[in-house]
Amino acid sequence: MRSHLFEELKNLVASDSCGRGAALLCEPEMFGQAADMLVRSTRVAVVTGFYVPLAKAPETDGPPGAAVLARALECSGRKVDLVTDALNLPALEACAGVSGVPCRSAESPQELLKNDPDLVVFIERLGRAADGCYYNMRGEDISAWTAPLDGAAILGAERGVPVLAVGDGGNEAGMGNFRLQLTRKLPDFSKCLSVISADVVLPVDVSNWGGYALALLLSVHEGRWLGHSPEEEQAMLEAMLAAGAVDGVSCRPEMSVDGLVLDRHLELVEGVRGLFYKGRKR
Ligand code: CA
Repeated sequence: MRSHLFEELKNLVASDSCGRGAALLCEPEMFGQAADMLVRSTRVAVVTGFYVPLAKAPETDGPPGAAVLARALECSGRKVDLVTDALNLPALEACAGVSGVPCRSAESPQELLKNDPDLVVFIERLGRAADGCYYNMRGEDISAWTAPLDGAAILGAERGVPVLAVGDGGNEAGMGNFRLQLTRKLPDFSKCLSVISADVVLPVDVSNWGGYALALLLSVHEGRWLGHSPEEEQAMLEAMLAAGAVDGVSCRPEMSVDGLVLDRHLELVEGVRGLFYKGRKR
């Protein structure tokens, strides 16, 4: 039953519908590995936040996926620490406010790990490239706007803390696992690819969707729905826009994520929730 679910989940959230290539590296077993990590965890740091200097604003991909996962972890009795840096905090606060999950900012890996988590989850968080700088999808060096929170993967490894990650481009923390494959697929972007790896990484179409997939996996384990509704999806996006966030692709304050209009995300949320109830009937 599990393998059936993982296959369907992969088809839903990692079909390369955006054509960026990274999701082609997704394998159904990765969802099983991610589920096992979530199930074993008791104190989880969930990290997100991607700043768009051109718009002087945080982007809309990341916070919804992180907030939905954080609430699912909390509802299943785990301690959750939802974290971003100061520049991205207004968007995350607005978004997490819809699910009623508190969040905070951190500027260093040490500050990020201060509550001693036994699992770190990165969702759409920049990872440094081979030259130590941080690059966005346009290949611009945005290190000046990026707190080195990806360093928690290195510090965590030293402390024996497992790392789970979600990315959709190749420049995110965790995507270092696929650096060689991505270098071949995206030669023009190779200089920008992240070298930060994770124990398990989910390459998906839109990082938020990876967060929703993780909430579904936890729901299946708990035997009750812990994810969100299309109404909440819309409310999170509205709250983030009111807090000044922009679509990371268009760089404009509009009801879209990664250049995909709201309806596409509502449909996805419905699809993920549908998988949970379909699985219960099997
Ligand atoms: Ca994205």
